[in-house]
Amino acid sequence: MPLYDFHCRVCGHEFEALARAQDPPVACPSCSGHDLDRLPSGFAVSTAEKTAAAARDSRKRQRLANKDKLIAEEEYRKQHEGH
Ligand SMILES: [Zn+2]
Repeated sequence: MPLYDFHCRVCGHEFEALARAQDPPVACPSCSGHDLDRLPSGFAVSTAEKTAAAARDSRKRQRLANKDKLIAEEEYRKQHEGH
């Protein structure tokens, strides 16, 4: 069954819906609007987005890890300078 991603031009809501020829026109579940953009293949889009998001997360985690390390070193220095 064809599952498509839709973007509602009325309220900006994005959703997935089955769009079969015999079905009534797809309406936005958020505002019931029919002014919809059908987005290209949800699978390809979401995979690319997931890859990009994973790369961003990985960089973010690395920055956080570096920051934790700096804080730990700072704490270590403080403890040893204080005595
Ligand atoms: Zn809408």
